[in-house]
Amino acid sequence: MTDAPEGTASPGARPALAATEADREFMARALELAQRGDRTEGASPIGCVIVLDGRVVAEGHNEVGLRHDPTAHAEMVAIRRAGAALGREELRGATLYSTLQPCGMCTMASIWSHIDRVVYGAGREDVHQMYFEDRHLDTMNFIRDAYRKDMPVIEGVLRTECAALYYGPDDEPPAEAQTNL
Ligand SMILES: [Zn+2]
Repeated sequence: MTDAPEGTASPGARPALAATEADREFMARALELAQRGDRTEGASPIGCVIVLDGRVVAEGHNEVGLRHDPTAHAEMVAIRRAGAALGREELRGATLYSTLQPCGMCTMASIWSHIDRVVYGAGREDVHQMYFEDRHLDTMNFIRDAYRKDMPVIEGVLRTECAALYYGPDDEPPAEAQTNL
C-alpha cells in the first residue's frame, strides 16, 4: 500500500486530478461487482463499471475462467457490453471505473474505445506484481504516450477497500494463484 491519497496520479506532467463524490459511488458499485466475481467460480475479484451521462451503461467482473477466454477481464467484459448496449463501438464521453489499475490490454482497449476518463481503485504499488503482465512498464505509460493526450486518469478511489480484494505487494500467493507465470 502506498500512502498516496486518492486522485493524485495523472499521466505525465498533468496536474493532479480530483475524484468526485460520484466517482466514489460508482467505484463502490465496481467493488460490489468484484466481490460478486470473488464468489463466482471461474471469475475473479475485479469489477468494472462504465458510466455515461451519470448513468451506468455496462458493468461486469472478470470472467476469464468462466468463459475460458483470457481476454475476459472485467474492463473488456464491460466495454463489450457497453458497445452492445449503446449500439456503437466508440464510448466517447464515458468514464471507466475499475477496482484495479487496468492492465495493458484493458488500457489499450480504453484508448481504442475512446473512453473519456479512467478511474481506478488499487494501483500497481498497492497489490502483488502478479496482477500485471509486465515487470517494469507501467500501463499508464500507454496513456501517457498515446496519440490521444486528453484521457484523464484518477487513481486511488476507495483504494483501501479495493486493495483488500487482492494479494498485497509482500504477500506470497500460492503458485496456482500466480496467473502471470
Ligand atoms: Zn485487463
